[in-house]
Formats: sequence, C-alpha cells, structure tokens
Amino acid sequence: MEAHDFETGHKPTWCPGCGNYGIWQSLKNAFVKLNTSQEEIVVVYGIGCHGNMANFLNVYGVGSLHGRSIPVACGVKMANHRLKVVVIVGDGDTYGEGVNHLLSAARGNHDITVIVHNNEIYGLTTGQASPTSEKGTKTKSTPLGVIEEPLNPLATAIISGASFVSRGFAGDTDALRDLICAGIEHSGFSLIDVLQPCLTFEKVHNFDFLREKIYKLEKAEKDKEAAIKKTFEWSEKIPVGVFYQEEKPAFTDQLPQLKEDTLVEKPLKDIKIDELLKEFI
Ligand code: SF4
Repeated sequence: MEAHDFETGHKPTWCPGCGNYGIWQSLKNAFVKLNTSQEEIVVVYGIGCHGNMANFLNVYGVGSLHGRSIPVACGVKMANHRLKVVVIVGDGDTYGEGVNHLLSAARGNHDITVIVHNNEIYGLTTGQASPTSEKGTKTKSTPLGVIEEPLNPLATAIISGASFVSRGFAGDTDALRDLICAGIEHSGFSLIDVLQPCLTFEKVHNFDFLREKIYKLEKAEKDKEAAIKKTFEWSEKIPVGVFYQEEKPAFTDQLPQLKEDTLVEKPLKDIKIDELLKEFI
C-alpha cells in the first residue's frame, strides 16, 4: 500500500495552509508504515473542519454526532476488537461537547487512538473560543477576552487513566506519523493531541510560532506526577512526543466473552430475540 491508496480522489476543501493537511498526510503515512490495509481500519469522525477528512480518506468511516465520536469508536472496537480504530476529532468537539466521553474511555482503557486537531478555536463555525483557547483570547464569542482557564487535555487524560498520552505537531509530519503509529500499536487508550494551526481564525499559534518553541521529549514518563508536571510546560518551550505510557490490559482484554473470537463472529442462532426484547419492553 502507498499513501495515495488511502485517498478517495476528492480534493480537500480546507483553507490553504491549514494544519489539517499535515495530519491527513501523517495518518496516511502511518497506515503505510504499519503495513495495514483499508479493511482493517475504521475511522470515526467528529464535527468540525477535521470531520471533512471523511471525504478524503479511503478507509471505513463513521461520521458521528458532535462530541460523540469516542463512544461510537468504543462500540466499534467491542464489536470487532481486531480492527484498528482511530478517532479524528477537534478540540471543541472532544474537550468541550464530548469531554465526558474522553474521561470514560480513558478510565476504561479502551483500545482506540484519539487524534485531536487542537487549534484552540471553533474553526468550522468561523472562530469562537474553544476549551483550549488561552485566557484573555479575543474571539467572536469572547470580544473582551476568554474568562476561563484553558483545559489541559494531557493532564486530564493521565489523571483519568489513559495509558498513552502524547502531543504532536501538524508541521512535522514525519514525527507525527511515528507518533500515530505508536498510538495505534499501543494496546489501550491513546490520546494524540495535535497542535494544528488554524491560519484563518487563530492568528497567534501559527507554524512559525510553534516551530520556534517546540522541542521533542526524549522518553515517556512512567510516573504520573512527573508526566503531569511536564504537561504544564507551555511558555518559552513547548514539549511534543509521548508524555506518559504504561502497559495494562485494554477494555476488551478483560471481557472473557471475547477471548476466543470477536463479537461479530459469535453465532446468533441461540439468541431468542423475541424473549430478549420482552425483558426490556
Ligand atoms: Fe483549517 Fe481553520 Fe480553515 Fe478550518 S477554518 S479549514 S481549521 S484553517
């Protein structure tokens, strides 16, 4: 497989220079590097500019409701735990509308890879403050500046039980490809928060700004406190890479019913649907 095998042939409609292009490229390259095929992958999309990737990426895909991609992805994984399940979402989508699902999936260590296009703004709706907008940022919805503190998604994920917590940069597609590979290969819940410049509506954290500040972490912490401390480093220097990783059983590894085969392979002949329905109606 080559990267173009994962393209549908539809040209992306993102603004020229948008960070989404780098994530799309990195994702295709990761699939190639993992030597995987379209049949083995399901991508669940949220609502936002990132969600348009459903039209450009040639794998099985589900367009979910705003903020609800993660539970859909957990359901796909439980139905067939041999699939690679990736979630493509935004910061508003996942850290705002869907933050409860992020916490639940991290707690359960569901074996899905959540890639967040974090541009600190609602881009599709033309520039309102999101949960990661910095305090004081002036946007269409906060003309006098954001009052709230920004959410720290990495610390939130670590505290909630996620077993792979990382940050990537859309402007370094080789490093992001490798991070996505590592996240998909990790058994358990992986979060990849990607710094994704929105050149149209967020004018501060552009590619030049981020390139100047970014440095790569050498290795993942195994100690939660040390990893959480690192996630608060956001001023002169901004770390990218894997902040925290631990090995522990994923959700489906703990279901004895799925030891031998997947849920979709189970025979239906012994299930009496009418009797089952009567229990619930
Ligand atoms: Fe990208 Fe921002 Fe344009 Fe959306 S509005 S496509 S996030 S640059």
